[in-house]
Parts: sequence; C-alpha cells; structure tokens
Amino acid sequence: MRSYLLIHKRALRRNLERIYSIQKKRIIAVLKANAYGIGLNVVAPIIANHPFVDMIAVACPTEGANLREMGIKKPILVLGGAFEDELKLFKNYSLTPVISHIEHIRALKHFSGNVHIKFDTGMGRLGFLDLPDTKNLKIVGAMTHLCCPQDIKETQSQIERFKNLIKGLRNLKFIHIQSSGSLTYRVKFATHVRVGISIFGEKPFEGFKLSFQRALELRASIISIKEVPEGYGVSYSKTFITPRKTKLGVVAIGYADGLSRQLSNRGFLYLNSQKLPIVGNITMDLTIMDLTNVDAKVGDYVEVVGPNQSFSELAKIANTIPYELMTSLSFRIKRILV
Ligand SMILES: *Cc1c(COP(=O)(O)O)cnc(C)c1O
Repeated sequence: MRSYLLIHKRALRRNLERIYSIQKKRIIAVLKANAYGIGLNVVAPIIANHPFVDMIAVACPTEGANLREMGIKKPILVLGGAFEDELKLFKNYSLTPVISHIEHIRALKHFSGNVHIKFDTGMGRLGFLDLPDTKNLKIVGAMTHLCCPQDIKETQSQIERFKNLIKGLRNLKFIHIQSSGSLTYRVKFATHVRVGISIFGEKPFEGFKLSFQRALELRASIISIKEVPEGYGVSYSKTFITPRKTKLGVVAIGYADGLSRQLSNRGFLYLNSQKLPIVGNITMDLTIMDLTNVDAKVGDYVEVVGPNQSFSELAKIANTIPYELMTSLSFRIKRILV
C-alpha cells in the first residue's frame, strides 16, 4: 500500500455529537463531492445512520442516486436545483430538490415530493431574491447560505433578511442557514444546521474558534532513499539544490493524489513526529523530502496529515483551503475506516 487515508469512525461520531451539543439542532450532513473527497461509500453509512442526522445534502442528483444505491434510506437534499432531464432521478431515488430558480419550479411541475427553497440573502450565488410563486410544490424547507461567517454584521443582516423572506411560507419543517463556519452563531428560528467539514474535524476557515476531533490521517510510503552530494539539484527544474551532502527520501504521493504542487519547497512531512521539509518540486506521483540525519528506511510511512498536521494547516501553507485539498485526494489513496 503506497498511500492511505485513515478515517476514524469514533471521531466522526464525536464531531456529530459535538455539533449537536453546541447548537441543540439536528443535523443535515453535507456529503457532496464524494464526501469532501474522503470517500462517500466509506463514510456515508456512519454519518447518514447517526441518530442526530436527519438528512444528507449533496450537490446534484447523481450523488443522491449513489447514496440510494448504497442503501442509504434517510431523506436526501439536492442543493443544486432540478432540471427536466433529471426528473427521473429525483422520482426514482426519492430525492428532495432545493429550488433556487424559476427553471427549477418549471421542471418540477409534476413533482409531488417534498421540496426546499433557497434564498439568496447576500451570497450572490444560488437562491431567490424574493419569494416566487411556487405553484403547487410541497415546500417543507427553506434555506440560505452565508457568505462571510467571520463578519458578524454581514451575517446578522443575512439572517434577518432570510427571516423576513420566509414569513410568507407556512408549515416549514426544515429551516437551515448555518454551515460549519457559522456554528458559533445562535439562530433561534432555524431547525437544523447544514454542516460538512466540521464532521471531518477540519476548520472552515483560519482562526475558527471551535475545534473538533481530528478524524483523518493521510500517510504515504517512502519508496527510495539515497544520499546525494552537496550542490545536487532535486526534481524538475532543480528548484532545490542541496546545501550539503543530503539524504533524499522519495515518497509515493504527488500532486495527482492531491498533494498540492504549491507545497513544493514549502510544505513539511512528518516521520515519527519529526518535521521534515519537502524539497524540490512535487511531481505527479512522487514527492521528495530531506531525510538527512533521520533514521528512516524504505517502506516507512510518512505523515502528510495526522496528529502533527491537519488539512487546514497544510492548506494554509499551500495558499488554499482544506476543502480543496480534501476534494483533490485521488482514487489511488486507499481509504481505511478504523
Ligand atoms: C458545502 C455546503 C455546506 C457545508 O459547508 P461546510 O463549511 O462544509 O460545513 C452547507 N451549505 C451549502 C449550501 C453548501 O454548499
């Protein structure tokens, strides 16, 4: 096994319980994009079947269909609207669409299942700006998405706008606004929170105040170790020149596996909790690290993410967000539930 991702069941459950205990609201678990790249088939049974989870949210109906094929029975919310050519999927797999455009209302004119409605209160992405004529649709839920949870004023005004917009809707069983980044807010009238990344123990943004249990560990094996002389160029374009005699380790993970090339000469890997620099450009399948004066042998696994480094910390060095690193994890990385 060249690389693997450990997923700690207990941490996933603990994090769901912590989310519930912080907000006292039941959970809509967001498992879009192959469960944030972690592996839908691996984590969906644990997350979807958790007693605090009322619903699973995905981006598009094919993701919902995948969940049904896996045997998931709970309601599935499709965040990205509904189109005519997808109607069969919504019906056959009993998926719940979120409408955010009149085209969705038109496509659903013969749809008799539950529907949620989305309002744009400042995100500038999906959502109605005003309450539309929803025809005969069975609207049981309403949602909005917050653009700037770090900004208290903006967030409160979005919440206020949303509260006014849904005044005309009766019999709402689901009112959901908050994702992980806004779990620090109190929203009395909301019934659910709609969270993804915090379930996996990662931070929605730098400096986020709440902390969750680390659920993920990414490891890759060293497949070559050799000593090179001082002044030796490492990897494509020789962006690193050894300053001394150097022991180089080649690790079986590259940018095609999700280790961002931005981490070239900037990121670190850990071996037995020793922090060791990535040297030279990260390549498609391989990454080179400095193992000088380290007791290491071929076949040892290095920590890319684990007790010493989270996806959030790695993302900061790579000038991106943990979401992007996680969703870039390739199929080559074996997912192991423990
Ligand atoms: C992805 C997404 C979420 C979940 O966000 P996290 O930051 O992962 O908790 C919630 N709502 C919408 C609309 C989303 O697209």
